[in-house]
Order: sequence, then structure tokens, then C-alpha cells
Amino acid sequence: MNIESLLRPNIRRLKPYSSARHEFAGEARIFLDANENPFDNGLNRYPDPVATPLRRRIAALKGVPPEQVFVGNGSDEAIDLLLRLFCEPRRDAVVVLPPTYGMYAVSAAIADVEVVRVPLLPDFEPDVEAILARADAHTRLLFLCRPNNPTGHLFAERQVKKLIEAFPGIVVLDEAYIDFCPEASLLPWIADHPNLVVLQTLSKAWGLAGIRLGMAFAQAPLIGWMNAVKPPYNVNQLTQNAALEALARPERMREQVAVIVRERARLAEALAALPFVQRVFPSQANFLLVRVDDPRRLYDFLAEKGIVVRDRSRQPLCEGCLRITVGTPEENAALLDALNAYANS
Ligand SMILES: *Cc1c(COP(=O)(O)O)cnc(C)c1O
Repeated sequence: MNIESLLRPNIRRLKPYSSARHEFAGEARIFLDANENPFDNGLNRYPDPVATPLRRRIAALKGVPPEQVFVGNGSDEAIDLLLRLFCEPRRDAVVVLPPTYGMYAVSAAIADVEVVRVPLLPDFEPDVEAILARADAHTRLLFLCRPNNPTGHLFAERQVKKLIEAFPGIVVLDEAYIDFCPEASLLPWIADHPNLVVLQTLSKAWGLAGIRLGMAFAQAPLIGWMNAVKPPYNVNQLTQNAALEALARPERMREQVAVIVRERARLAEALAALPFVQRVFPSQANFLLVRVDDPRRLYDFLAEKGIVVRDRSRQPLCEGCLRITVGTPEENAALLDALNAYANS
């Protein structure tokens, strides 16, 4: 597949903004080019526009070359950039598989790009035939979220492979929750598929939602286009520093993931035993989708106790469902106390 042919024509013609420092090739000692304040406070200089040390570190950790790594202001920025690269407003479309992450459709709506919705099958797998039947030269992006939010389900590899091979546009595989099941990552597939973009983030398992650091992985030409259209300094210096610090200690993340996964099992078992719980769906992520008798009443009861969960009951296939994030052991105990009180109320 030729990625260039999928780009919007205005993008293909683009000459990216070149910063003053970009244009300087020598070994700089004195920086009088960017109108910064010269007094060093650790943050007085513009950050590296492509976060080279950070991208190198991510590349080493993930086993891909740095040219295949993009970093952005959260994965949400990567989603927005992909829309702007490949989707002509009012002409092209994206395909999403509800129930799924809401930002795909929101970003598309903001970009004035049509959203084609192909609901998941009742077993939470993609309806491959229906997706391919809806795909044409104008469906430029297909968003696959794996593990999916809010179902926690991991699409079968075989289905994902079929879609990557047959979809006529870019397949965006969102692995925001992959650190909770790292062996399931399909990141190595970018080597064989120029139309595959894998998204990951520091917002979930890495515990850094506050710094806004999202990653995209794809073959070098596609990453080059993402870098060409991003705002020049999209990842600020504080974020680059904090991300490098966290990535130097992956064992800390893995320890926390182990606790969360253990707590998820404990929570799932305790929830399933409650009289008003109809079903706890298996989850590969850090949340549980739970079907209950009267979701709104339960939601309000928990809110009254200061516990906020997510009401997903109006999403397709999620009738009666709340999505509950796995908290600390203490938080989960407090949740179970509240749920027991609700059962007895
Ligand atoms: C939380 C989440 C993200 C993370 O987005 P960031 O902008 O990186 O914080 C991405 N995709 C999905 C499906 C999510 O649930």
C-alpha cells in the first residue's frame, strides 16, 4: 500500500515550518537565534522539537528504531494529527467500532470528518465482513482499540490481521491498555504493514496521565508525516524530563501493574458475588465492565458516597453496564463496602 496516495493533497504539497535551530548545522555554543531569555533556569530554552533522547529511550524499550517513534501531547494529539493527515473534511470518513473510546468520533467531528459506525459483535469481536463491506476509497482510518475501552476485551489477533491486510486505508491500533497485558502487543507488526499505526501512552499503566505523553509507532515515512504536521514544540520540556525519568524505571511500572492485575481479579470475584450484579466481563485492562440491575440507581448511590465510576449503559452492547477502574487496594475495599451497603439497602 502506498501511504502517500492516502494523504490529503494539501499535506502532500506541504513545506513544514522550520525552526531557527533546525536550520543551524554546526556545533552551537551560544544561542542567539530564538529570542529566548538567556538566563539559565533549566527551562528557558525551547524544548527539542522531536524529543530525540526521549524517542531513543522509547525505541530502545520497545525494540524499534527511533525513526518509527512519534511522541505527542497525549495519544489524543496523535489521533487528531492522523485525522488531519489523511481525512479531507466533508469528503473522507473514519470507521469506529462501538462501544469504544469516544475521542475517535469527537476528533473526527471536530475535523468535520464523517464517522462510520460498525458495532462490535455480541462477543465483543469486530465484525470484519461488515467493516470491509463499508470500507472504500474514502474510509481513510479504521480505529481498533485493543484491549478495548470500555469492554476490556482483546480482539483476536486473526481478526486484526485480516483488517490490516484488507482495509484500504490506515489502521490505527490503540494499545493504551497494553501494559496490563504486554505479551499481547502487536507493535512488531508495523515492520510488515506500512498502513499500521500503533498508539501507546504513559497515561495509564505508567501513571503519568498528568504529563500528557502519547506515543505512535509506524514505519518511518508515516512518522515523518506526523512530525511534519505537529505543532513544533508539542511535547514540553517538563514532560520530556518526567517521561525520561519514568522510562528509566520500567520495573516500578511493572510492580504497580502486578498489583492492579491482582486487585482486578479480587474485585471481579467480589463483584460477581453481589446479588444485583448480573455479569462481570473478563478484562485485560485496568477496569471492569459490570452489568447490574439498575445502573443509574447504583451510580447515584456510589456518587453519594463520593465514589465516581463511569456509566456506560447507553453504549451499544453495554446495556446496564458501569465501567469501574481498578483502584488501590484501599480504594477497592471502600468500593466493596459501599456495594455491600447498597445490596443491604
Ligand atoms: C485513556 C485512553 C487513551 C489515552 O489518551 P492520552 O491522550 O494518551 O491520555 C487513549 N486511548 C484510549 C482507548 C484510552 O482509553
